[in-house]
Amino acid sequence: MITQCFIALGSNLNSPVQQVQSAVKELAEDRGIVVEKCSSWYLSKPYGPQDQPDFINGVVAIQTELAPLALLDTLQTIEHAHGRTRDQHWGPRTLDLDLLLYGQHTEQCERLSLPHPEMLKRNFVLLPLYELAPELILPGGTALKKFIDQSLNKDIEKLQQY
Ligand code: ADP
Ligand code: MG
Repeated sequence: MITQCFIALGSNLNSPVQQVQSAVKELAEDRGIVVEKCSSWYLSKPYGPQDQPDFINGVVAIQTELAPLALLDTLQTIEHAHGRTRDQHWGPRTLDLDLLLYGQHTEQCERLSLPHPEMLKRNFVLLPLYELAPELILPGGTALKKFIDQSLNKDIEKLQQY
């Protein structure tokens, strides 16, 4: 079964734009994944600790036959290949890949929560996701656009040059 999924990308270390762009390429090279579309890149202020560089964020839509945990494994392998370490919660990172949505699937286990529990609280996820899928209906039946308003434009800038 092929499922449409949305993945959030973020980086604020070691040439962040290159990190996220090469991560999209690596996703597309995976045999189990077809990258359907990619949002613009957004420059955003760090979430949590402020003494770290600004982030580059974006979202990609993919189609995959991989099961949710197999897809998470693939995302973590790519993070690892980018030198991702987990030192500080919400701290600086070369690459963060979060599985936002796996179709309409919901799941709660130690390694994976779907939908991603923080996604509706983060403008750097909501804005690129809305750019890709303005008509998206979330698991549970609520429209994504209900969460989109003017207040989300604070501390974030859409980059025009990439
Ligand atoms: P964060 O993205 O919140 O900054 P991490 O990237 O370090 O944190 O991820 C912490 C853990 O979150 C991972 O080990 C992973 O197993 C778990 N996790 C739970 N749900 C998800 C999800 N939907 N997407 C990605 N990781 C998830
Ligand atoms: Mg993460």
